[in-house]
Amino acid sequence: MAELKRLSESRDLTRIERIGAHSHIRGLGLDSSLEARDASEGMVGQLPARRAAGLILQLIRQGKIAGRAVLLAGQPGTGKTALAMGIAKSLGAETPFASVAASELFSLDLSKTEALTQAFRRAIGVRIKEEAEIIEGEVVEISIDRPLSAAAGSAAPSGATAPGKTGRLTLKTTDMETVYELGGKMIEALGKEKVQSGDVVALDKASGKVTKLGRSIGRSRDYDAVGPHTKFVKCPEGELQKRKEVVHCVTLHEIDVINSRTQGFLALFTGDTGEIRAEVREQIDTKVAEWREEGKAEIVPGVLFIDEVHMLDIECFSFLNRALENDMAPILVIATNRGITSIRGTNYRSPHGIPPDFLDRLLIITTQPYTEDDIRKILDIRCDEEDVEMSADAKVLLTKIGVETSLRYAIHLITSAALACQKRKGKVVEMEDISRVYQLFLDVKRSTQYLMEYQSQYMF
Ligand code: ATP
Repeated sequence: MAELKRLSESRDLTRIERIGAHSHIRGLGLDSSLEARDASEGMVGQLPARRAAGLILQLIRQGKIAGRAVLLAGQPGTGKTALAMGIAKSLGAETPFASVAASELFSLDLSKTEALTQAFRRAIGVRIKEEAEIIEGEVVEISIDRPLSAAAGSAAPSGATAPGKTGRLTLKTTDMETVYELGGKMIEALGKEKVQSGDVVALDKASGKVTKLGRSIGRSRDYDAVGPHTKFVKCPEGELQKRKEVVHCVTLHEIDVINSRTQGFLALFTGDTGEIRAEVREQIDTKVAEWREEGKAEIVPGVLFIDEVHMLDIECFSFLNRALENDMAPILVIATNRGITSIRGTNYRSPHGIPPDFLDRLLIITTQPYTEDDIRKILDIRCDEEDVEMSADAKVLLTKIGVETSLRYAIHLITSAALACQKRKGKVVEMEDISRVYQLFLDVKRSTQYLMEYQSQYMF
């Protein structure tokens, strides 16, 4: 459990989000009756697909989607990944969302089934509940390396929280004083929190962590009024400890990695987790099943998003078929921009390169090309997201470019136009910046034209 705690702290770091291609998507933008709002939560247009995704969301929430999967099919740049992200965000921060491109599953380091298993387990969350003994009270005195003086209300010695020293913490709870021996670790915790006498704190006995809740306003019976967290129950003597539930959320994959002897939990950051032995996973599954039975843990099925799914081969599809039967299976959302194409590893062709038995399991959502109005709104949102100020004229030009070329190309131009603007020491991106980067970077159409013109000078 100590390891799990460390892990849940480290997860906060890995959750820090950068401005990425989809960082503006905060949900599906639906109202309470699951009707898609025209533009909301960073999502624009694509109304039928968003309505359908809203129903999927409801199925997921009601636990009715086990064994099925969702296919997002549509032309490139029509928001398939954005939709998957919207589903994940609507499910809340605690719901794990793992995203892979099918091509990432083929590597020399990992077999494709191992890579798929890891992806699945990254999308399965475990909420582990622990009971912690928490004592809340007003700090009467903090003493370091000297015998405790019983004088209630005396001020804490200044600089009393030197790390590494031992001492005592006297807390006054509702109707009595309680004295705690402090280890060096606790003193450090006190140091960080800058706790003084008169503060109201919560002390976690297991970890020694002291959290400041507020200031006392005098008499102990007034504690209720101190702050939203401070609720004093009258504790009969000998029952001072309050039991609080502490919840950690981790993924099965994270538990696998920290328990796999060859790797360490640092592998979670490098991504270099290697193959995880089947025995390790079996032991973990047994342990988690025990915790579930004892009511200590819950499984939170997340979302596994596999992009470019036409790149999977027939063996991967067979793996997916089976993996979806597992009662802990996450919701599988797959996406492709291909039409009828061959199923990798066979000589057969099928819609999206997906075998018919797997296609049969899928709820299919199609995305449509964007209208000019949608493109303008999405570009607007992206300018905000990237903190780029752009003149109205420049926006009109960029939207026109988006319509003529592609939404993604136009989105790319925002960043580069902002740089061009910065270079000429401008504050607002103008038409000239847009035309400059439009000339510097070719879109697909112009690049193809160029290649056709100069074909003879390229290698065959
Ligand atoms: P591909 O088939 O090439 O993988 P895709 O269909 O997954 O493309 P996205 O990557 O989702 O397309 O879309 C391209 C860009 O446009 C992304 O930055 C995405 O966040 C944004 N975008 C797409 N659709 C919407 C939408 N409806 N609302 C807001 N932003 C969108």
